Amino acid sequence: MTQLQAETVATQQVLLVVDDREENLVAMEALLDDGDWDVRTVSSGEAALRCMMEEEVGLVLLDVQMPQMDGFEVARLIRGNPRTRYTPIIFLSAIAHTEDSVLRGYAVGAVDFILKPFDPKVLRHKINTLLEQERHRHELQLLTRQLDSERAFNASVLENASEGILVIDPQGIIRFANPAMARMLRGEVADLQGSRLLSYLQVPQMPDNWQDSEIYRHWRAGQTYRVHDAVLTTLDGGYLPAALSCSPLPQHQSSMVLIALDMSVVRDLHAQLESQAITDALTGLFNRRGFHQALENALARVDRLGRRMAVLYLDLDGFKRINDSLGHAAGDQVLRKVGEQLKTCLRPYDCVARMGGDEFTALLDSLEHPEDAARVAEKLIELVSVRHKLEGVEFTLGASVGIACYPECGQTVDGLLCAADMAMYEAKRAGRQQYRFFSPEMNGRARARLMLEESLRTAIEQDDFVLIYQPQIELASGRLRGFEALLRWEHRVSGTIAPGVFIPLLEETRLINRLGDWIFNQGVRQCRAWQAQFGEQLLLSLNVSPVQFGMPQLVDDLRRVLETHQLQAAQLEIEVTESALMQNLDTTREQLRQLRELGVRIAIDDFGTGYSSLAYLRHFELDTLKIDRLFVANMLDSPKDAAIVSTIIDLAHHLGLEVIAEGVETLAQRDWLLAHGCGTLQGFLVAPGLKVEQASAFPAQLDWSTWQTPPP
Ligand code: C2E
Ligand code: CA
Ligand code: CA
Repeated sequence: MTQLQAETVATQQVLLVVDDREENLVAMEALLDDGDWDVRTVSSGEAALRCMMEEEVGLVLLDVQMPQMDGFEVARLIRGNPRTRYTPIIFLSAIAHTEDSVLRGYAVGAVDFILKPFDPKVLRHKINTLLEQERHRHELQLLTRQLDSERAFNASVLENASEGILVIDPQGIIRFANPAMARMLRGEVADLQGSRLLSYLQVPQMPDNWQDSEIYRHWRAGQTYRVHDAVLTTLDGGYLPAALSCSPLPQHQSSMVLIALDMSVVRDLHAQLESQAITDALTGLFNRRGFHQALENALARVDRLGRRMAVLYLDLDGFKRINDSLGHAAGDQVLRKVGEQLKTCLRPYDCVARMGGDEFTALLDSLEHPEDAARVAEKLIELVSVRHKLEGVEFTLGASVGIACYPECGQTVDGLLCAADMAMYEAKRAGRQQYRFFSPEMNGRARARLMLEESLRTAIEQDDFVLIYQPQIELASGRLRGFEALLRWEHRVSGTIAPGVFIPLLEETRLINRLGDWIFNQGVRQCRAWQAQFGEQLLLSLNVSPVQFGMPQLVDDLRRVLETHQLQAAQLEIEVTESALMQNLDTTREQLRQLRELGVRIAIDDFGTGYSSLAYLRHFELDTLKIDRLFVANMLDSPKDAAIVSTIIDLAHHLGLEVIAEGVETLAQRDWLLAHGCGTLQGFLVAPGLKVEQASAFPAQLDWSTWQTPPP
């Protein structure tokens, strides 16, 4: 049931009779009693007005002559009140009236004028008709109210929608626009209404003639036209990215409704994501992808202009040490700082990128001469290679730069980057803190290097490495002191390869850490296995490269390996070179302290060939000096070498260190060393590095007396 039906059915209409005479009221009541209405009777104008305020009255029968307020006055007041303005009034009058007073009655709002006495049938008929009219009027009023509220609701929906809504007529003219649409187009609703839709459409481009436009064609076909990446022209001349959909309205309305979605937020988000994808989060510079793009664009431009440009590849020297010893947060700080520095020495239109790790690239656009690139490289190196201070710790960084010029060294993005990278490696090989231009010979060398690097990786995976063991003999007693483990690469094609060839490469590529673990495990397990045979005095010497020695986790790694294989730390001797010790004195001191705490012995390898700063011997607690085999090889012929060897032996004695002579090949050398108080020897005289089975068969004690002539 509608609200309307409910209201009309619920109550009978009220008929109000107003007369100052009681007997008239009684008579009227009797007369109208059987009608389809409720009769109310009141005896004064005031009472009538009160009643009409309280109830919905359908019709008033109003006596003209009343004391105080007469019928005309009452009618005037009824008409004056909006609530009762349209309630029909029939005047009743007992006396014959002049035409004047009848007219006056109509003038104040009467719908009829009945003279007493009257015919009840006629009156009843009139009442029925008027009440019916009144009921219709009332229904109409309700309907209108309902319609109004529905229209207001719809209007409010359009008003408050945050999407732009337009109604377009078949001629392409905007007939309706909601406020959101006006806001989007930076104008007023009135500006839009009556204007051409196409005048706001920048993208997709539409033909000038509306009838040829996609929108119109879709409308004609009864289809919705959709476009996600439209661009609208705003009234102030700006642009607005928008998604549009335009759907036909029902046929008789002969128009279409267009909904527009402001896409600028989404577009901005896209742009932001896009820029994140090409930006290095740490430094805010381009990342690898960003640099690729920039280089690609530059190449496209330079091709047309016939200009030169250069790609610089910069790698920090000594960054890894900072990262390892001061932690990643410190490392990040250094990278950020370097990024800043690089930006300062380039022109605004050159671009810098961080390719990952401690590698940076720069693109120098439109160069006059290649030398300009060299100048920039020099400046970069100089800027980076200063003393830096971080959390109170001072350290020096360095940089190596490779330069590849366009078009000589490459014409593609990859070609140029690869050439610059190769040149950078050459700069590093040449001793760091340098720059190098790419040259074609580098290609061959780099390719060989690449191949070697690749085969090293597979060798590690395929277990192609072995350790061999070279005995160390106490000179005086002939007792086996221990073995030095030496690494060999059993190459499947090239045969055995000595470590001098591949250790530097392993260091450079950081593969040494992976292999180092393997070496520690292999050696320590072997030494433990030899305990039954050679006793718990047997020492195992392990070589530790500078990179390995610089690793903060070295001691932890060793401790774990010793625990795994249940070997006492005192059976292990770590051989480090002087240069490894001198990398960073603070780190070295700490590393040595921890090694000592762990209980392993420390030997200086190749003593005398490194920094030769004897001062450090005072500061560091060491166990053994190993005299480099070059001194040993020459000492019998060269008095200077002899002097060095005997001095080292004396020095070791005074400092309470053991001394081992390396590379002893002859009995004469052995005798000389014995005579000069050297404790231990190692060399081909006794044995080269031995495979495990051979080493296992080695006597725990040599009988020097049978060694008058060198063994075959
Ligand atoms: P090093 O520690 O000074 O090793 C001694 C080198 O001299 C070994 O060469 C050894 O075979 C050789 N040698 C021993 N006795 C004689 C001799 O009487 N005459 C001559 N001419 N040579 C002798 P190798 O094995 O080629 O090792 C070279 C270098 O490679 C080593 O020098 C060491 O620094 C490094 N290395 C070897 N194994 C490892 C390892 O497992 N890890 C690390 N990090 N480095 C290693
Ligand atoms: Ca060694
Ligand atoms: Ca050595």
